[in-house]
Amino acid sequence: MAILPIQVFPTRVLKQRAKRVKNIDGPVKRLVRDMLETMHAVPGRVGLAAPQVGVPLRVIVIGIPEEEDIVLINPEIVRRKGERVIDEGCLSLPGFFAHITRSEAVTVKGLDQNGKEVRIKAEGLLAQALEHEIDHLNGTLYIDHLDSIEKLQKVEPIETTPEEDGG
Ligand SMILES: [Zn+2]
Repeated sequence: MAILPIQVFPTRVLKQRAKRVKNIDGPVKRLVRDMLETMHAVPGRVGLAAPQVGVPLRVIVIGIPEEEDIVLINPEIVRRKGERVIDEGCLSLPGFFAHITRSEAVTVKGLDQNGKEVRIKAEGLLAQALEHEIDHLNGTLYIDHLDSIEKLQKVEPIETTPEEDGG
């Protein structure tokens, strides 16, 4: 397994439509394992899409704290319900966040890493993560949902001392 470097805006791979996976073969399975390791390498990451590690394929992983990891190949949102405004950031746009509108709940279908069909009904953070990562597969970043780039806000760095970090 390997921790992969994260592609940062404005790299081209982040703006293109990723290709469908035709066969869940060895390289795709290795990609999934590496994406899971890369996602878990830094606490607080809840999802990752293959274009973010430079691979233009329709593969996402989600890791909500305290819940089992989700791997989805060729995921599709089949249903969206409601609207809510939430704060969102992205590993590929470090240092920024914005208030954006997302669905309250989504239903997503796709394949797991064994090629088995899965269907997920999600709300809250999981729904947000699914919409965010599936957006990546279509070359869409959360800033594309803003009517003005001026609505992008800077994350203020939190100053920590080594003592405070070591808990
Ligand atoms: Zn992102």
